Amino acid sequence: MQRRQSEKLWQKAITLFPGGVNSPVRAFRAVGGTPIFMVRGKGCFMYDADGNRYLDFLSAWGPLILGHAHPRVVRAAKKALRLGATFGTSNLAEVELAEFIRARLSFVERIRFVNSGTEAVMTTLRLARAITQRPLVVKFEGCYHGHSDALLARAGSGLLTLSGNIAEASSPGVPQDIVRNTLVLPLDDSAILQETFAKYGESIACAIIEPVPANSGLLLQRREFLSELLSLCRRVGALAIFDEVISGFRLSFGGYAGREGLFPDLLTYGKIVGGGLPVGAVAGRAEFLDRLAPQGPVYQAGTLSGNPLAMATGLATLKELDRENGALYRYLQKLAQILQEGFRQEITPLFAGREWVMSLVQEASLFWFSFHRHGESIPVRRIDRVADFSAAIYRRIFHQLLDSGIYLAPSAFEVGFLNTAMATRHIVFLIDRLKKAIAALPTRLQDFA
Ligand SMILES: *Cc1c(COP(=O)(O)O)cnc(C)c1O
Repeated sequence: MQRRQSEKLWQKAITLFPGGVNSPVRAFRAVGGTPIFMVRGKGCFMYDADGNRYLDFLSAWGPLILGHAHPRVVRAAKKALRLGATFGTSNLAEVELAEFIRARLSFVERIRFVNSGTEAVMTTLRLARAITQRPLVVKFEGCYHGHSDALLARAGSGLLTLSGNIAEASSPGVPQDIVRNTLVLPLDDSAILQETFAKYGESIACAIIEPVPANSGLLLQRREFLSELLSLCRRVGALAIFDEVISGFRLSFGGYAGREGLFPDLLTYGKIVGGGLPVGAVAGRAEFLDRLAPQGPVYQAGTLSGNPLAMATGLATLKELDRENGALYRYLQKLAQILQEGFRQEITPLFAGREWVMSLVQEASLFWFSFHRHGESIPVRRIDRVADFSAAIYRRIFHQLLDSGIYLAPSAFEVGFLNTAMATRHIVFLIDRLKKAIAALPTRLQDFA
C-alpha cells in the first residue's frame, strides 16, 4: 500500500504540531509507523491522502455511530451553516436538541451543553463540590474522563492498602495540591470501595465512573459493582456521576443508565451527542443542574456552547438513532453477534498450541481484543490485569490489518466501534483479515520481542 502523500504530510505536521498531532494517540506511538492522513469518509470507509480506502473501526473514537457523512447529518449541517454557524445567543437548535433528549430520557431533567467531554466532566466535578461543599473526588483506575487537572491522577504507589491513598499526577503540570483531592481506586474491587467510603465518606463530593470503561481496553464491570457505588454515594451524601461520553446513545439511546435502570445524580455526554461536531453535555436532575450559573452560583460558560451547527448534527444523529423504536440499535447488535460468532468459529481455533490467546470482549457495538496466556481468566475487569505483552502483539496485528485496508485504533488499549453503515460482509472481511494476520504471527511470546 502506497502512502507517499501521508509521509509528506507527516513531515510537515511534525514541524507544525507537538509530536505532529493535535491529540496524542493519533501519533501511532503505541504501534509504531507513520500516521495516515485522511481526507474523506463515506459510510464505513475512510480515504487517505493517497486515495487508499480503509474499513473504519475507529469511528472517530465513537461519534460516528452512523458512519461517515451520513446523508441526513450532512443535510442538517448544510442547512444550519447557511443559517449562520453561531450567534452567541439563545437559539432554536439548542432547544430542539435538548427537548429531543429530555423527552426520551426520564433521568434527564436539565442539560448544559459544552464543547467536549472534558469540559462536561470538569463541570460535574465543580458542581458536585459546590453542592456537597466537600473536596474529594473518587475515580477508578483505567477510566478516562478527559484531560482536566483533577482527573489526570493515578493511584500512588501505596494505594492498595489505603494507608497513603494519595493519588499522583499522571502529567507534569498538574499540581499535587489538586490531585491530593482525588482518590483513585481499582475497578471491580468492592472491598476497597467500601473501605474508602467508610474512611473518607464525609469528605467525598462525588464518584465518577465510566459505567462501561472503554478507554483502557473494554473493562466490563459487574452491574452489582456499579449499583454498590451508587448506594455508597447515596449513603454518604456524595454525588454519583456516570461518564457516558462513549456509552451514551451507543449501548442504547439512554446509554448504560437507561439500559440498566441505574440512575446516577449527574451524567456526562459527548462524542455521539454532537454527531461528529464538538459537543459535550452535562445532564441530570434539575435540583443539581440548577446550581449552575446563572440560575445558581457555580460558574461555567462557553462562547460556542450550544452553537446551532453542532446542535443540528447532534439532533440529526439522535433522530436517526431513535427511528423505528431503536431499529438501528438492534441492527448494531446483529452485527456484534456476527462478529462474535465469526470470531468464535474462525479465530479462536487458531490459538490451539500457541502460548498466547486473543479473545474478543464485546458490549453492544464496542469491541476489544484482549490478550492473555492460555488458561488465564477472562474477562479482564481491571487495568492491572491487562497482559503486558498485549501491545507487542497488537502492533503487529494493527499493521497487518492496516495494510489490508482495515483501520483499527492505533493502540492495544483502545476499543473498536461498529457503526450502522457496516454490513455483514464488512464484519466477514475483518474476520478474514484477522485470521490471516494471526496465522502469520509467532506462536511463542518471546518471539515478539
Ligand atoms: C472521550 C472521553 C472523554 C473526553 O472527551 P473529549 O471530547 O475528548 O474531551 C471523557 N470521558 C470519556 C469516557 C471519554 O471516552
